[in-house]
Amino acid sequence: MSVSSDLQATLDPSRRSWVEAANDAACDFSIQNLPFGIFSDSRDAVWRVGVAIGDRIVDVAVLEDAGLLVLPLASANESGASSVFRSDSLNAFIALGRDAWRSVRIQLSGLLARDTTTLRDDTATLRDDAALRERALVSAADATLHLPVQIPGYTDFYSSKEHATNVGSMFRDPKNALLPNWSEMPIGYNGRASSVVASGTPVRRPNGQLKLPDAERPVFGACRKLDIELETGFIVGRGNALGEPVACAEAEAHIFGMVLLNDWSARDIQQWEYVPLGPFNAKTFATTISPWIVTLDALEPFRVAQPEQVPQPLDYLRHDGAHAFDIALEVRLRPQRAREATTISRTNFRHMYWTMAQQFAHHTVSGCNTRVGDLMGSGTISGPTADSYGSLLELTWNGKQPLELKEGGTRTFIEDGDELTLAGWCQGEGYRVGFGTCSGVIVPARD
Ligand code: CA
Repeated sequence: MSVSSDLQATLDPSRRSWVEAANDAACDFSIQNLPFGIFSDSRDAVWRVGVAIGDRIVDVAVLEDAGLLVLPLASANESGASSVFRSDSLNAFIALGRDAWRSVRIQLSGLLARDTTTLRDDTATLRDDAALRERALVSAADATLHLPVQIPGYTDFYSSKEHATNVGSMFRDPKNALLPNWSEMPIGYNGRASSVVASGTPVRRPNGQLKLPDAERPVFGACRKLDIELETGFIVGRGNALGEPVACAEAEAHIFGMVLLNDWSARDIQQWEYVPLGPFNAKTFATTISPWIVTLDALEPFRVAQPEQVPQPLDYLRHDGAHAFDIALEVRLRPQRAREATTISRTNFRHMYWTMAQQFAHHTVSGCNTRVGDLMGSGTISGPTADSYGSLLELTWNGKQPLELKEGGTRTFIEDGDELTLAGWCQGEGYRVGFGTCSGVIVPARD
C-alpha cells in the first residue's frame, strides 16, 4: 500500500478503536483524530509526548521503546530518534517533517484499531499485551497537560468579517465599519509569545492605564472590561527562511495543526492605547491555548469552501479549492461556585473570511521568516448572528446588553472567579475530531 492510501485509511469513518471510549460519537478523541500534546502523570512527572485516544493518553516513547513504533529512517538523527518523544515540547518531533508526522499517525491508528483483519499482523500486539497496554496508555484523568510547543513567535490575525464589522460599527462608523485595507489582506500584528499559556492556567486580571471618555488624563487601575476572544490558532510545522516567501498554494504544507486559542483582552486598556500602533498591554498579559494539537491531516474530511471573497484578492493571496474547515465552536462561562456553566456563544470556524493559507502567505510575502512552533491566531471568530459572536464586547454590545446566566446573574464583561471555556470539534458520522477544551479562571488584579 502506498503512504497516501495508508493515510486515507486513518480517516475511514468506520474505523473503531479497542479503547472503547474513543468510539462514542461525542468523544473528541476518536481514532480518526490522534492529536499530539505534552503530558505528565502521577506515575511519572517527566513531561513527554502523548497522543489522545478516548479517555486515555498514548505514551508514544513507550511504544517506540517496545519496537512497535518506528520513525522513518530519514527522520532518525544522531542523538537517537526516541529523544523526540521524551521531550518537554513537540518542536523536535514537528521538525522531523510531514512524512514523520504521517508515519506516526498511520502506525498509531493501526496499533489502536479494534479490527485488525485489514491491518498488518503485528498491529494486534498492543491490543493483546495487557502489561504493555498498562504502561503505554495512561489515564487522561490522571494526567496533567502542558503547553504543547515552545513558541518562538506569536502572530494574531483579524480575519472574521463579522467581527471586524461589529467592532468597526461600535467604535468608528456603522456605515463604514470595515476599513478599505481589510478586504484586501489578512490584517495582523505581532503578538507576545512569552505569555501564551496552556489551558487551565489561572489568568490574573491586568492593571493598566484606563481613560474615561470625559476625563482629561488616564488613571491607573484594574481592568474593568475584561474580555475573551474566541479564536483558533495554527502551529507552524515547517518554517521558511528569511527572504523566502511561501506561495499561497504551498502554505498548508507549512502547517502542523490547529489549537483553540483565547486571546484575553482588556477592552478599556485597549481603547486608550491602541492608536496608532495597535493593542499592547491590553493583550500581552495572557493568551490561552488548548493542549492538544489537531493535525491538518485529521481535519481533512472537514474541509469546506471559504466564503466568497470580493474583491478578488491580489495574485499572491489566491488559491484554488476549499481551504476552510467545518469546526463547531462554543464559549462557556461558569461563575465562581456555580455548578453549571452557561454557553454564551455558538459559532463555526468556516465563517472566517481569510484562510490560514492566505494568512501564512501574507505573513511571509515581505520575506519575514517563520519557525517551527510559531503560533498564528485566526482572529476573533464571530458568526453572522447575535448569539454567534466571539467576544463579550460583541455579545453584550460593549456592555449595553447584559447576558443572562443560568447561575450567577448577568454579565457584561468577565468578573473575578469566572471560568471561561472554549470548546471545538468537527462532527463526522458516528465520530468526532475534537480539540477538547481551552479554559482559564480569572483571579483578582494585584493591589
Ligand atoms: Ca485577537
